[in-house]
Amino acid sequence: MAPRICALCEQSRAMLKRPKTGQQICKDCFFYVFETEVHNTITESKLFKVGDRVAIGASGGKDSTVLAYVMKTLNERYNYGLDLFLLSIDEGITGYRDDSLETVKRNQQQYDMPLKILSYDELYGWTMDAIVSQVGRKNNCTFCGVFRRQALDRGAAMLNVDHIVTGHNADDIAETVLMNIMRGDIARLGRCTSICTQGEDTIRRSKPFKYAYEKEIVMYAYFKKLDYFSTECIYSPDAYRGHARVFLKDLEAARPSAIIDIIHSGEAFEIRDEVKATQKVQQTCQRCGYMSSNTLCKACTLLEGLERGMVDAGITDKGRKKLDAEGPSRESLRTISFYKPPSGNPTITVETSS
Ligand code: SF4
Repeated sequence: MAPRICALCEQSRAMLKRPKTGQQICKDCFFYVFETEVHNTITESKLFKVGDRVAIGASGGKDSTVLAYVMKTLNERYNYGLDLFLLSIDEGITGYRDDSLETVKRNQQQYDMPLKILSYDELYGWTMDAIVSQVGRKNNCTFCGVFRRQALDRGAAMLNVDHIVTGHNADDIAETVLMNIMRGDIARLGRCTSICTQGEDTIRRSKPFKYAYEKEIVMYAYFKKLDYFSTECIYSPDAYRGHARVFLKDLEAARPSAIIDIIHSGEAFEIRDEVKATQKVQQTCQRCGYMSSNTLCKACTLLEGLERGMVDAGITDKGRKKLDAEGPSRESLRTISFYKPPSGNPTITVETSS
């Protein structure tokens, strides 16, 4: 049988079937269409302007490794004029994050980008290993997710960047749409498909892989022979998201466009003003100065609960009320009050490639 010819260039031999479209194409055409779609996402959403300093949230996993590689490629190809940095958060998970950070350090050399690593231990005085030993494996991802979000903002502020980009892909966003529908969280549903959100102190946060399929990211990493870390976290992943993921994979198997269709459906929802009005007014945390919709931000509430052995304080309303009823902790000063958003152009120290 004659080899199948690439459906795009109609010259080279087709090497793969594109998960998003089902087209049989060659490797070079796959690289080109994948990169061009990300470029189109970036330009159509006007994510960056010339001179922006952009931190790439880098875990060493496939998504962020491909993101760093593609951002570097597009920045050079299309003269975006960006200063790119790698920003890694060390959650303190022995046997997982310590190994994946070694991959990020190699990526730093391979892509010639400055790298900043910030740990939960230095920011919060707790590692995820210590948190799991206290709270068990049920709500560990809640702690981890809240702490990571703040840690990224803090690392970005230390790097004095304008923008953080993360490797969230189309599958992640479609899963989040499904989860918000299943929870009936309409206010979040209205926000979760936004490509760009505002982080702390005007640092924007965006997802250039919003329309990139996970399978294509894996394929890209594989054919480009990128150096990434593929082991799952040793602590159980978010069980509820796991159900949404399985459901989405079933839908994708039946109809590959399901992922994009779900994202478009999420984008098309119009949220009524009454629902928007239930969103709390933004203020700053009285303890650490981070943006918050309560007097204490979520991370400070979780830390307070950890310090006082009331692990439900930041998880359930009942736990929070119990914490409030007991009054402020004498130990509260050992939390994260050192944080100050930068003013002017602070001197930063980053690990640079030699
Ligand atoms: Fe953190 Fe949970 Fe992800 Fe592990 S699976 S890195 S504990 S959020």
